[in-house]
Amino acid sequence: MHIILFGPPGVGKGTQAKILSERFHIPHISTGDMLREEIKHQTDLGIKAKVLMDAGNLVADDIMIGMIRSVLQSHECVNGIILDGFPRTVEQATALETMMQELHISLKRVLYIEVTEEHIMERLVKRLSVEHRADDTAETITKRITIYKQSTAPVKTYFESRGLLSSVNGEGSVEVVAQRMLEALK
Ligand code: AMP
Repeated sequence: MHIILFGPPGVGKGTQAKILSERFHIPHISTGDMLREEIKHQTDLGIKAKVLMDAGNLVADDIMIGMIRSVLQSHECVNGIILDGFPRTVEQATALETMMQELHISLKRVLYIEVTEEHIMERLVKRLSVEHRADDTAETITKRITIYKQSTAPVKTYFESRGLLSSVNGEGSVEVVAQRMLEALK
């Protein structure tokens, strides 16, 4: 079962992805986490990605597409994945669709987590004080929301037009939102 969790930064995609991953016994693939691993190990990609991520910018499409291609082909992912943080551009979405066709994978659903902009700011500012992520600073939060609106929001329309998108209300407790996700997958 291949599922995409989609939505603006700070809506709780990571938390919900973990719950779905445990529930369906399929890996949670977060492209943000994969990039942070690269940074931790100071790989060439990590060094390049850090500059972009710290500034709130996106990493190049071809790099991200290559990363997901290996994930989809990997043995652990044969039964499905919970994809979190990809695709973030229409180009990534198109490439994903092509890769899935080539690999005979059908996408079960794109779950769009919907919360108000006020709520997003609140959550990101809270995360800033708890997780100390290098890209959670006041300036980069604003930058990431702008980039989301410009480059990532069109991905929603893309999946909507394919009849694959389900909107899930992201307001409320983690458990309540998780329940709504499960309902949307029925
Ligand atoms: P996240 O943990 O999903 O919020 O991702 C953190 C940062 O990693 C983003 O702000 C981007 O700089 C980078 N990133 C993660 N996934 C992607 C992607 N699919 N395309 C481009 N950049 C990405």
